[in-house]
Amino acid sequence: GKVDYRTEQKFAEHMKEKSEASSEFAKKKSLLEQRQYLPIFAVRQQLLSIIRDNNIVIVVGETGSGKTTQLTQYLHEDGYTGYGMVGCTQPRRVAAMSVAKRVSEEIGSNLGEEVGYAIRFEDCTSEKTVVKYMTDGILLRESLRESDLDHYSAVIMDEAHERSLNTDVLFGLLREIVARRADLKLIVTSATMDSDKFASFFGNVPIFHIPGRTFPVDILFSKTPQEDYVEAAVKQALQIHLSGLVGDILIFMPGQEDIEVRHQGLIYQIVERLGELENAPVLAVLPIYSQLPSDLQAKIFQKAPDGVRKCIVATNIAETSLTVDGIMFVIDSGYCKLKVFNPRIGMDALQVYPISQANANQRSGRAGRTGPGQCYRLYTQSAYKNEMLTTTIPEIQRTNLANVVLLLKSLGVQDLLLFHFMDPPPEDNMLNSMYQLWILGALDNTGALTPTGRLMVEFPLDPALSKMLIVSCDMGCSADILIIVSMLSVPAIFYRPKVQYQASDQVREKFAVPESDHLTFLNVYLQWKNNNYSSIWCNDHFIHTKAMRKVREVRAQLKDIMVQQRMNLVSCGSDWDVIRKCICAAYFHQAAKLKVGAQDQTLSVYIHLICILYVCGVLQEYMQCVTAVDGEWLAELGPMFYSIKHAGRSRQVFHLHTHTHTHTHNNKGVAQFRCYSFTPCP
Ligand code: ADP
Ligand code: MG
Repeated sequence: GKVDYRTEQKFAEHMKEKSEASSEFAKKKSLLEQRQYLPIFAVRQQLLSIIRDNNIVIVVGETGSGKTTQLTQYLHEDGYTGYGMVGCTQPRRVAAMSVAKRVSEEIGSNLGEEVGYAIRFEDCTSEKTVVKYMTDGILLRESLRESDLDHYSAVIMDEAHERSLNTDVLFGLLREIVARRADLKLIVTSATMDSDKFASFFGNVPIFHIPGRTFPVDILFSKTPQEDYVEAAVKQALQIHLSGLVGDILIFMPGQEDIEVRHQGLIYQIVERLGELENAPVLAVLPIYSQLPSDLQAKIFQKAPDGVRKCIVATNIAETSLTVDGIMFVIDSGYCKLKVFNPRIGMDALQVYPISQANANQRSGRAGRTGPGQCYRLYTQSAYKNEMLTTTIPEIQRTNLANVVLLLKSLGVQDLLLFHFMDPPPEDNMLNSMYQLWILGALDNTGALTPTGRLMVEFPLDPALSKMLIVSCDMGCSADILIIVSMLSVPAIFYRPKVQYQASDQVREKFAVPESDHLTFLNVYLQWKNNNYSSIWCNDHFIHTKAMRKVREVRAQLKDIMVQQRMNLVSCGSDWDVIRKCICAAYFHQAAKLKVGAQDQTLSVYIHLICILYVCGVLQEYMQCVTAVDGEWLAELGPMFYSIKHAGRSRQVFHLHTHTHTHTHNNKGVAQFRCYSFTPCP
């Protein structure tokens, strides 16, 4: 069979030819035609007039009706950018980047000029920028510097139905800002109909419905529960593909692992099975998830060559944030990944959960945008009716709120339990997060912000990471910790090419500092620096050059903040024990003790040995980024948690231990950790 995995080369060549052939004029014209075909265009005048008459408007419209790409442009065309920027917030970074790119093309300017975007550690705007897409987190931080958001004439809070943590906090803040600023327009958009809640929260403001243009979608439930949704999705995709019916396929998977990593991933399996068939038609399988490099992300929007079907494999990013035209078939695994605070371990954990009915309906809706479609749900009708929640629980009610608490405190909100939330977080969560900030020294005994806390707010980082930077100055290793924190802020440093697993693992082993994954990161960065930040060196060592460049940028940005805050930058040279101690000072509350073979009260975790990648804050199915610490440090730095007990002659101290040298065949060492309770000493 002819299968082009992602058809990268051919696809790219084809697209290039095509766009070169069409003249610049024709391209512009067709973009304009596309804009005018969107459902929102039919109601442009009414929409602008209701916005003129009201400071706050809720706009409801189906995904793909043009809210995200058009509203900003309409406001720009109507003169709002004459006295401030039009800002548009997105819960997802990918959406902010991708939509800004699209809109800059529609307006006919370069990205970063009239139309730009800002996400954490990446500001692609300039003095010229009048339309700014950004993550909701960015706007939240801007409100710290400029409490009335004076740079903006209008703010669009997009994807409000997602109810992301930052959006929910912004709701409360913006409600007050609009009350203070008569010249600010606030538009809240939602893809779902449950907008009454938004309207009443903002004081019975008008709701504007964009008439939809949707086609019927056949919903097909699985007759029996599926044991393996990846396997089921592969089968379903192949069945559709070989049926001869025309139309692109969109598959929803919970996470990146299912798409590209687990059992080689869904994409690999589709391609492999198709390859076994003779004369199978060509299928272009394209992934989309948040960590995918942006040049590959852009591919999902390109039209496939004639006779080639597109099959997009997405996380819930494609549910409402990004719209791809031409989808006729949707395959829904029924799962998504959610960040949920786990009180037992005191951390957020990113885990796979069943989706809600609202998610399911959004997903199936993707099949009916350009014509009648079909949605295959890989779960039973009874599971849909009886097991799924109607809507997903808002993030604010299920995650760690430490950053939110810090932010609100520094905005002068005294009593957080009185802050006007649309759906207040459980009091326990709030108190738990305040407790975490207290143990980090950010809040004092009365719950007020301490100088350390005030300094922590300056950094766009998790509280523990900012704390680490702050204590490193006194401990004389701030230059080193700065590098480590920067390395932790970038997702993937190492790569393992499929054909060279062994070689890449061997090279990686050379960087390993046995007692600490953090020090391993430092080691990588320092060696890269010694090699003049060379990309050849990166390639030779199976390290992503782009990621390392990003680390360098992040480092520069964090360094600027440190300089502004008069924090001194010193390196501890080769005395790396100080660095481990500094890490301990910020993460003592996440210590665990390795206890091989123990059964009671133990948390079974996988230490991911090779991919020492992510930040300590998120415990996935395995512990990542581990550093061995001295038990006595725990008692010294986290006295509210640990004390040294004398039992007989031997001193009992808590001890965390890394195990970086127990390779098993699947590169995961299975170890048992005892998680010490997170209750303070009386
Ligand atoms: P909504 O926000 O109402 O869901 P959007 O404004 O995002 O709608 O989408 C409107 C149209 O713009 C869709 O048809 C979509 O395919 C197109 N579009 C959005 N982003 C891009 C992009 N990066 N490349 C190509 N087309 C895009
Ligand atoms: Mg949108």
